[in-house]
Amino acid sequence: MSSRNLILVVEDNKASSDLMAYLLRAAGNTVMTCTDGADAIAIAGHDHPQVIVMDLQLERMSGLEAAAVLAADAELKAIPRIAVTAYAMVGDRDRVLKAGFQGYIAKPIEPTTFAAQIKAFIVPAAPAQSDGG
Ligand code: MN
Repeated sequence: MSSRNLILVVEDNKASSDLMAYLLRAAGNTVMTCTDGADAIAIAGHDHPQVIVMDLQLERMSGLEAAAVLAADAELKAIPRIAVTAYAMVGDRDRVLKAGFQGYIAKPIEPTTFAAQIKAFIVPAAPAQSDGG
């Protein structure tokens, strides 16, 4: 069993990926990274992360396409998907949320709050038993 959250970061910009992974690991999470939407789907199916943090503009399959595939997958749709993108125009947030993401964070990310922003989307596992408080 694992008490650490597994977070999948999908980002094709290495500096951005490194920063997000660093911040999430520093907050106590286990982090996997990849650079493409198709890879994200494969990793999600294999490793079942607690949350997927995904850029929109990726190498082969875009974040929007990958989110749509995940949202339509009976096994994987429950994994929260958070878009992290610099593509922040008026109306973009609503478009992203309608396209299969539960959350949206605009770049540049805020390093002091990023991990907490992501953690807010992680559904805590049900406790095995009550510890009485
Ligand atoms: Mn990108």
